[in-house]
Parts: sequence; C-alpha cells; structure tokens
Amino acid sequence: MTQTQQIVEELYDFYTKTAVNIITYYDANEREEKLKELRDIVENNCSQLKKLQSAESIQRRILDLYEDDDTEHNIASIIEEYNRAISEISTNVSKDKKLIEFDKHVEILLDKAPCEDDDEDVELQLSGGYLNVIDPISKKRIVDPVKNTKCGHTYDRESITGMLKINNKTRCPVMGCKSTDFVTLSQLRSDIVMKAYLEKNPE
Ligand SMILES: [Zn+2]
Repeated sequence: MTQTQQIVEELYDFYTKTAVNIITYYDANEREEKLKELRDIVENNCSQLKKLQSAESIQRRILDLYEDDDTEHNIASIIEEYNRAISEISTNVSKDKKLIEFDKHVEILLDKAPCEDDDEDVELQLSGGYLNVIDPISKKRIVDPVKNTKCGHTYDRESITGMLKINNKTRCPVMGCKSTDFVTLSQLRSDIVMKAYLEKNPE
C-alpha cells in the first residue's frame, strides 16, 4: 500500500468511527441530522480526491506527450490534450466506491437490510442482509475482525496472522475471492463496522 492510500484508508476509517459514535451516543432525532452532516463531509472528500486523481492522470498524460518531443505541432497537441483532460474532471461522486461503502456501513450500523440493487463492486461480507461474523479460517465467530483492504474480506486477526506465520505466501482464504495477491499484514486493517456489529449483537 502506498503512503497516500494508507492516509486515505485511515481517513475513511475515521469517518466510519465517527458514524459508529454518532449512532451510539445520539438519540434518534439528532442522529439523522448528524449522520447527514457527516455524509456531506465524506461526499466532499470523495470529490476532492477524485479531482486530485484526475489532476495526477493529466500530469502523467502530458508528461508522456513531452517525452516524444520532436515536432513543433506537439505544442498544439499538448494543449489539446490538456483541454480534453481538464474537461474530463468530473465531480459527480454518486457512484464513488468509498461513498457507496460509507452508506452501506451506516445501513449495517443502523440495522437496516442493504438494498438489492447496490453496486456489486463494493465487496462486503453480507449474508442474508447481515454481516457474516464467521471467520473463514477457523469457522468460528470472529473476535477481533481485520479487513483485507485488497479484496474487502474480513477474518479474525488471530486466524489470519497464524496462517501467515505458517506460510507467508497465502492468498485470501475466502472461497471465490477474486484477489490472487498474497495476503500481507500491512494490508490488514481493523474492521470497524464488524467490530461495532459484534458488540451490538453479542453471541
Ligand atoms: Zn478476499
């Protein structure tokens, strides 16, 4: 994980933690308002991030054009490319993965069953509208949930670290997982939503 990705993950973790706190400590009336305020912040953040990513890709494309800098008509093509790229900067984040994920987290925390038409790209461990709290490795109820940020699957910390100790070339143990990368400790993050869910739904 790059440093930027790490910062982004931490930021969204912070938003999720804030949502957990709002749901835990505010009464029903205030809760809705506070959650809306938080969602506006998340949405704004998604849009800023998208602009930043677009700006980075514009920079890369323009640098690529400069590389084969052999004719003077190149300047025209650079300007053309620049204008085209700028026009592509869109701030519509309604389909933003992180925003959809945030909405889903809030739904789970509020005990609302997720909608059927949700974006399938957002991989959350859901079964029958509830979080699947069974660890895919030990097949026991998860105690300390950690999420694999590569594929979105969650395991029990003890099980996955135990597995990696035995073999550090281990792929995600969830059946049908699309990720073919080896699991590393650095890509595991505490799963805040499942943690809150486990606390709310004791055995
Ligand atoms: Zn996986």
